[in-house]
Amino acid sequence: MKIIRDEGTATITLVATNAEETEALKNVITISKPRKKMSYGGCVGKDGGRPFAIYLHMNSRRKRVVEEFSNVTMRSTKLVGGAKLEILGTTEADDQEVRSMRDTCFFGSTGFFYLGSSDVGGEVSIIITAQFCKHCHSYMISRVGAEWKTCDACAEKCRHKYIRGTIHGGSAGNLAMGEYCRKCGRVKPELEGARKKGQIERELEVERELGIQVRWKGESPFVGPRHFAEVDRLMRRHARASTR
Ligand SMILES: [Zn+2]
Ligand SMILES: [Zn+2]
Repeated sequence: MKIIRDEGTATITLVATNAEETEALKNVITISKPRKKMSYGGCVGKDGGRPFAIYLHMNSRRKRVVEEFSNVTMRSTKLVGGAKLEILGTTEADDQEVRSMRDTCFFGSTGFFYLGSSDVGGEVSIIITAQFCKHCHSYMISRVGAEWKTCDACAEKCRHKYIRGTIHGGSAGNLAMGEYCRKCGRVKPELEGARKKGQIERELEVERELGIQVRWKGESPFVGPRHFAEVDRLMRRHARASTR
């Protein structure tokens, strides 16, 4: 899928790049109405292994499923029926877009709204947006906008009320302690010339203040920031000792 992100109109256009995607988009168009929501149905390939893809479902319903694995019973819900769209980036840039769409869904909008169909260079495409601003109803595609249902223009007019808590995204990286507005969700701007903290230092701060343990998933050989810091300290001590 070719993904065209337009910050100006706050829309994303998904363009088919092969017969399979053309068919899938046509199926969605047939059963869609403008402003109808496509639900986020998870992602695959997050930890490498296969190309990253997310799923959006139009007109699907949630079905409770119970699966038995020898002596373990798993209860979950699955999206069934309707049209399922697999969104897979064709280029490196498209791949980044798919990841950012995932973050917008996961942290904010739980899906995308269908706005209409179009034709881009002779290929079938659909136009979507993540959320509508609760103040001015304009479209939004950014994670923070979707999460707080407040567009950038309205956030600028906000009389911020900052509180301290965990923040993520942007200069905060995956996770950090910081101050954010409890009305529009925007993070308090850092003071000019403030020392930039590294991801490890930020995560250790989260552990200290909240009394929780941050755990890393994926391919890292470390359990979390504390484990990394400990190994890092030992490595430095070892390096110092061996150069003596
Ligand atoms: Zn707004
Ligand atoms: Zn605010």
